[in-house]
Amino acid sequence: KLYNQVQDLKGSIRVYCRVRPFLPGKTSDLTTVDHIEGSTIAIATPSKYGKECQKSFTFNKVFGPSASQEAVFADTQPLIRSVLDGYNVCIFAYGQTGSGKTFTMMGPNELTEESLGVNYRALSDLFQLSSERKETFSYNISVQMLEIYNEQVRDLLATNGQTSRLEIRNNSPDGINVPEATLVPVSTTSDVIYLMNLGQKNRAVSATAMNDRSSRSHSCLTVHVQGKDLTSGAILRGSMHLVDLAGSERIDKSEVTGDRLKEAQHINKSLSALGDVIASLSQKNNHIPYRNSKLTQLLQDALGGQAKTLMFIHISPELETLGETISTLKFAERVA
Ligand code: ADP
Ligand code: MG
Repeated sequence: KLYNQVQDLKGSIRVYCRVRPFLPGKTSDLTTVDHIEGSTIAIATPSKYGKECQKSFTFNKVFGPSASQEAVFADTQPLIRSVLDGYNVCIFAYGQTGSGKTFTMMGPNELTEESLGVNYRALSDLFQLSSERKETFSYNISVQMLEIYNEQVRDLLATNGQTSRLEIRNNSPDGINVPEATLVPVSTTSDVIYLMNLGQKNRAVSATAMNDRSSRSHSCLTVHVQGKDLTSGAILRGSMHLVDLAGSERIDKSEVTGDRLKEAQHINKSLSALGDVIASLSQKNNHIPYRNSKLTQLLQDALGGQAKTLMFIHISPELETLGETISTLKFAERVA
């Protein structure tokens, strides 16, 4: 409740910045990040090494390279609570390939309890919180896992049959806007681990055919929550979309052709459509351009209105990523 009041004051879009540590054995003095102070990150530009030159960006929160998965998740918990109150929530991971998006959402390849990402922690919290309310509410929780690749929606939980080119429907009364996609009821964290692995495996199948497709598609774990008030019988519905976005790096159009060029154009288009939607929401524009990409169409019911949005933007520390780092920070500045 308190969080809702805070949200009303501050608007419903929050932007958190996370800086990845140097990978093992790759430590260097040369880094994009000059310093982090509170919720401000200062970027050192190369001329700093001759002359003083810095640019600072302020967000709702900045997590440095040593921030734990637990700490990164901690501030997300109030959003999870609001899903059980019937709100729609979107959590995005944005950044160039290799900046730590999947690490934040899923965790590293070898998962340990400490390294579990936002997806698992969010569902685990939903189960916990819903069971605490079981005297007053009866909750049904189910998940879908989708991928958007080249403006086509694919079902990552399909065990057979139709998996691609799924239709998106907005404003469906049950809140299920991709009715053809597999919908799986979940009640324990092991159900979730099983499904996340299945989804990853389905993504990997296409990756062998198309070479690291995961960085060139958006993946979305959608959690549907339906709660029944045991005294009044009233039903409330909330949803949570956990989105690992395609890599935001700009592709040099003179260097790629054919399929790669097409992919790059689709990614470009959908990430800028997302930026446009969030920016128009924060400017309180009358017209919100949801129809410009599959991504924004898919998330329409969970972007704007009473919905709450959290964007984790990811920064790589290596100096050679400076150009992309600045472009990520500028994207975030625009939507913040
Ligand atoms: P992306 O999904 O943005 O392409 P990944 O999440 O795959 O990036 O991260 C790239 C590599 O960096 C992976 O090996 C990952 O385990 C590691 N990594 C990312 N973020 C962190 C972090 N906060 N702490 C430790 N290792 C990380
Ligand atoms: Mg990834």
